[in-house]
Amino acid sequence: MESSVIIVGGGLNGSTLALALAGAGIGVTLIDASDPADLRRNNFDGRSYAISAASSKMLGALGIWDQISKDAQPMFEIKATDGQVGEGPGPFFLHFDHVEAGDGPMGYIVEDRFLRQTLLKMVELAKIKYLPQTKVVDQRVGPVGVEVTTEKGKRVEAQLLIGADGRTSGTAERAKLKRLKWGYDQTSLVCAIEHEKPHNGIAHQFFMPAGPLAILPLTGYRSSIVWTEKSDTAAAINALDDAAYLDILRPRFGDFLGEIALTGDRYTYPLGLVLAHELITDRIALVGDSAHGMHPIAGQGLNAGLKDVAAISQLLVEAKRRGQDLGSASILQEYQRWRRSDNLTLAIATDGFNRLFSNQSSMLRTLRGLGMGIVNTIPSFRRAFMQEASGTTGDLPKLLQGKTL
Ligand SMILES: Cc1cc2nc3c(=O)[nH]c(=O)nc-3n(C[C@H](O)[C@H](O)[C@H](O)COP(=O)(O)OP(=O)(O)OC[C@H]3O[C@@H](n4cnc5c(N)ncnc54)[C@H](O)[C@@H]3O)c2cc1C
Repeated sequence: MESSVIIVGGGLNGSTLALALAGAGIGVTLIDASDPADLRRNNFDGRSYAISAASSKMLGALGIWDQISKDAQPMFEIKATDGQVGEGPGPFFLHFDHVEAGDGPMGYIVEDRFLRQTLLKMVELAKIKYLPQTKVVDQRVGPVGVEVTTEKGKRVEAQLLIGADGRTSGTAERAKLKRLKWGYDQTSLVCAIEHEKPHNGIAHQFFMPAGPLAILPLTGYRSSIVWTEKSDTAAAINALDDAAYLDILRPRFGDFLGEIALTGDRYTYPLGLVLAHELITDRIALVGDSAHGMHPIAGQGLNAGLKDVAAISQLLVEAKRRGQDLGSASILQEYQRWRRSDNLTLAIATDGFNRLFSNQSSMLRTLRGLGMGIVNTIPSFRRAFMQEASGTTGDLPKLLQGKTL
């Protein structure tokens, strides 16, 4: 066998996993359909992620954080409020300040381009068998290993196959791993803006009737916008030119950042939930969005994927030290025990949050305002929310504690 582990999908989760395993001496083949030339492009593509404090520690332990930290904007405060078109933000009903939570920022906002380029560079330099622009079309499991076949007929064997191939995961489909799926009839309009006034490292979430509007601070006088609307409204807004698009965004915003202008490209993401019943089957495991694609309302999708990566890489490194077959059922079962309920809880929580906040009902608006008001006035509740957002709760794998494998 050329490698012990095959990873299908070289997105943010698959690439990070390949680096974690290769760094610990495990032979990895990473197969990805994308063209590296597209990933290398340095134009600002408007996309960014809220990376929790725990995820940033994990990227630190893997030597990734050092290369992106100068481009990461620390997030010092989060403010949430009900918003109405034309009114801008209402009074804040939730306010989290990092000073209260303890040491350091609550997390960081990192642009997609910096993460992607750094991961690609590191994958190319590492001892990883990297097969870019290669699509996997088939997989077969045997008694001692698993074999995948690419579109061009190449076959690769290993002890274990990990599907990191995103929401439309072919690995999950071929393995007949059942996944719960539904759409939200919501689409996120994603872009970045430049603004006149400083953001002071504060992330804002306005709960509008059609969906949340998140304003996430980027380095300099820039912010990333994740603006969720009903899908047909989003399509109509996206068809507008930049000036008309901004004319619709402005009244949702208020004037707390002064004049705003678009910078970089605009994107749309139709939203839905994908949740695997089982994360594993014979010699196969799922990580990241292939296991759980969730609503971005809490900005936790990638953070949850990195938790999968941290857990499975720790189990595989320990198994390698014991000289065990890396496709053993006992390792995969332990991975599933570690991650499944956490993923389920987060998927249900984001789904419920979206239902509670993205609607017009005045009764629900009053109730949630009351609930959030209670959370906001009780310091121990506030601290619990902040710990959750910083990813430091639960049974944390070593990498998320900033420890090496
Ligand atoms: C609007 C929006 C905002 C978000 N904001 C945040 C945030 O603030 N914080 C956060 O934590 N998360 C956020 N997320 C979630 C985050 O973007 C995802 O969880 C994360 O990018 C998933 O990464 P992945 O590597 O699992 O999957 P993907 O990025 O989908 O990667 C899958 C990879 O698999 C490859 N592939 C697929 N099929 C094959 C095949 N057959 N053969 C070979 N390769 C294949 C693809 O080419 C791709 O490279 C957001 C999501 C959205 C939509």
